Amino acid sequence: MVATTPSVAERLWQELLELLFPAHCAACRRHGAWLCDACLADVPGQGQLQLVPWPHLAAGGLMGVYSLSPHAHPLREAVHALKYGGVRVLAPPLAALVAEGLAECPLWVDTLVPVPLHIARIRQRGYNQSELLARALGDECALAVSCGDLVRHRPTRSQVGLSADQRQANVDGAFACRPDAFAGERVLLIDDVLTTGATLTACATALRAAGAVEVWGLTLTHAEHGLRRSRS
Ligand SMILES: [Zn+2]
Repeated sequence: MVATTPSVAERLWQELLELLFPAHCAACRRHGAWLCDACLADVPGQGQLQLVPWPHLAAGGLMGVYSLSPHAHPLREAVHALKYGGVRVLAPPLAALVAEGLAECPLWVDTLVPVPLHIARIRQRGYNQSELLARALGDECALAVSCGDLVRHRPTRSQVGLSADQRQANVDGAFACRPDAFAGERVLLIDDVLTTGATLTACATALRAAGAVEVWGLTLTHAEHGLRRSRS
């Protein structure tokens, strides 16, 4: 297991950074909050989760994927800041937004599982943004979070710029679980963006092999162009 829970020193460092660099909105740069009320009001669908229509998901054992919004303003900027900008403090407000949608959603799961990064990528980035989201969402919804039972055991290149087929080949067989780690469980996979679904599908295959009876996906945003391409 790769431990990515922040240490006391890391938390103190984060608090010092927040003192030195006060909160400003990831989407509009306005000071006062990491995601301001005006931008939150701009989230398409007003924070309701939508089941992304995509017929190919079932092939990998995924029941379906819920998402907050298309990959557009303001969540596109927030995802980018969380994933590439080191703005870890965005995870709790984004998780709170997801939790509101989840409360209205007819979905019952036992365990949240973040899409894992390979250890080399964690060392490079310093954290896994999906794990931050899953942990914050687990706190919001009082749901168990499993980090470490699903692992990305071989490194994969970035999916950015790859075709749907290349994305699938890139992640096929990249994930593995401890045998029976999810026996009888309904699992909700957490990731930041749904593009073609290749990563979630590969994770679901490993989770089902480890006994999960249902695997759903949940992402902050979904790239509509990627879904259209995946159907062709
Ligand atoms: Zn804003």
